[in-house]
Amino acid sequence: MHEQAIATEWSLQVEDVRKSYGEREALKGVSLAVAPGEFVALLGPNGAGKSTLFQLLTGLFNADGGVVRVCGHDMRREPVRALGRIGVVFQQMTLDLDLSVEANLVFHARLHGIAGRESKARIADALQRLGLTERARDRVRELSGGNRRKVELARALVHRPSVLLMDEATVGLDPASRRQLLDEVLALRESEVGILWASHLVDEAEAADRVIVLHRGKILAEGTPQGLVAASATTSLAEAFLQMTGGGERSPGPPQ
Ligand code: ADP
Repeated sequence: MHEQAIATEWSLQVEDVRKSYGEREALKGVSLAVAPGEFVALLGPNGAGKSTLFQLLTGLFNADGGVVRVCGHDMRREPVRALGRIGVVFQQMTLDLDLSVEANLVFHARLHGIAGRESKARIADALQRLGLTERARDRVRELSGGNRRKVELARALVHRPSVLLMDEATVGLDPASRRQLLDEVLALRESEVGILWASHLVDEAEAADRVIVLHRGKILAEGTPQGLVAASATTSLAEAFLQMTGGGERSPGPPQ
């Protein structure tokens, strides 16, 4: 009983999660948690294991070991409850380009058991929040890259999730659209959603409540952006990150 009470204080909990692809250990025992209303940046260079972690968090496959809980619901034992509390924007766009903005969202609302007036109201709310009301009837194909991403964010919010997962969501966007999307997501903290924002771009982690540095399947450091800078005796988060990870991409080498 006591354990359950502790677990439900977090929007998201990941405990000692492990995942290998054959000999290659992509996640070597990762633990993290996100509180309601908290923006946590998961920062890691390419190959760190971010996508693997996101696939586990979205129930696409099971971990070899460890536990994922969403609002206290174990992803393996109660997948429907756990997944029902998650909103996600994947790295690759997953909208139907030939459907209207609204139709893409209606479909998603129905999948979550939301229909009729309630669905209309929620979709109108989400579109308004992201400044897309005027574009509701437009086909997604007619929208800019930045607006397409905003539609995906609106869709991720329609069922009012407790956890929002953003996987390298700004890939391919120009700097202004990148900033806008990040600001929209930062503003969601006031609605008490817990946010996990995965990126390899240090500037996107500057405004995070907490930064978790993932490298080669392990968490190297965790703290506020200022705390990480102070602990590394550098003068910026970019330098601290570089110092911790050796910087840049890891070339695909032999398993380690
Ligand atoms: P990131 O998203 O941080 O770039 P990934 O989770 O994609 O990291 O990759 C973590 C490690 O797992 C890398 O070494 C990558 O080569 C390996 N990996 C990822 N997906 C597969 C796969 N389907 N099969 C084999 N190895 C994989």
